[in-house]
Amino acid sequence: MQLLATEVIARKRDGHELSSAEIQWMISGMLDGSVRDYQVSAWAMAVLCRGMTETETATLTRCMLQSGSSLKRMSDRPRVDKHSTGGLGDKVSLILAPLLACFDVDVPMLSGRGLGITGGTLDKLEAFPGYRCDLTEQEIETQLASIGCVITGTTPNIAPADKQLYALRDVTGTVPSPPLITSSILSKKLAESLDALVLDVKFGSGGFMKTLPKARELAELMTSTARELGLNASVVLSDMNQPLGRMVGNACEVNECWDVLQDAGPEDLRELTLKLCGELLVAVERFPSLDSAIAEMKLCLADGRAARRYQQLIECQGGRFAEHLPIAKRHVVTHTEAAGWIVRIDGEKLGQAVIRMGGGRMEKGQQLNHAVGLEMLVRVGDEVDFDAPLVNLFCDDASLLEDLEQQMRSAITVSEEQVEPLRLIVD
Ligand code: URA
Repeated sequence: MQLLATEVIARKRDGHELSSAEIQWMISGMLDGSVRDYQVSAWAMAVLCRGMTETETATLTRCMLQSGSSLKRMSDRPRVDKHSTGGLGDKVSLILAPLLACFDVDVPMLSGRGLGITGGTLDKLEAFPGYRCDLTEQEIETQLASIGCVITGTTPNIAPADKQLYALRDVTGTVPSPPLITSSILSKKLAESLDALVLDVKFGSGGFMKTLPKARELAELMTSTARELGLNASVVLSDMNQPLGRMVGNACEVNECWDVLQDAGPEDLRELTLKLCGELLVAVERFPSLDSAIAEMKLCLADGRAARRYQQLIECQGGRFAEHLPIAKRHVVTHTEAAGWIVRIDGEKLGQAVIRMGGGRMEKGQQLNHAVGLEMLVRVGDEVDFDAPLVNLFCDDASLLEDLEQQMRSAITVSEEQVEPLRLIVD
């Protein structure tokens, strides 16, 4: 097909619906270099500003999927996975994969690294020395056949078009576009050859989508696109106006996961994990109802089966397992300067603090300090006295502390007006 990049970009810029041939042409041109990076970036910006129809989004997703290979299933157990749009303290994947694997399903989780203030599952797991995130497709299938779960990075052959487009979006301000997010995420999940997928779409200050309507729009586009491409997907909308659980930071979050796997840990993290797992187990008919699935999963946490599977997962992927990973030695607690109610927690500021301590990246490829992080000592709706503890910081660099304490105080708003606690699962 004879097309010009400038024409395709201009048609999108002017709000036209692109044909599948035009979308296919743009993606193959990006891959073979005939469409230049700056042209793909301009096109991505036009998509961000003008949006895409459901049909265009499904076509783009299919092109990205078909730019690479898919996992070849070796076992006949049902295959399930979860994707979260990411948020502060979101460590659900680490518990979800081994817990589901206890119910005779396979979880081939291809995960990513931290993005902006949201931590990445792979970065968290690398807090175990030796943990490998670069399994080959053959290694993924062999491990699934043996223990039913894998958490690794995408292989070079899976959705290469996404890798290229994502790298351009990351540096051109074109990440927060629902059709681009949808095609990016679903192309990788479709390549896992799943029977069911659950999406945890988050809204609030600690996530990508800052408001509920924006999260709902993304959730609807993702489920309709998944179904159009033959994947059974359901969605949970969850609140990210405060961190999930108490811990934020790589090793601290891993330690909190171990608490949940010991049948303890914070209630919000347990509730969301059980809900997401339950949706999947019902979708593949392991249980007739969400309630029966949740009751069985609670037994599995209580009798140590899920914890054993988690340890197997870490060890199979080369990690040196420890029940509790080391945390930075310096602990500093920030206190309130007034009495009242906690009305707002600014996730962006908390996340930036962890990045400044070295727990997230300021530059591409930066090595992380897994031991730093923070522990939330309050939640929205709590009543606090004057000089009450708010946040516990685990930091190695003493020169940052004064600034960070100030940042913590500005991140947490105390008011004389009472507010209700937040509802975690909205829909
Ligand atoms: N995660 C992805 O994999 N892609 C996006 O576009 C956003 C988050």
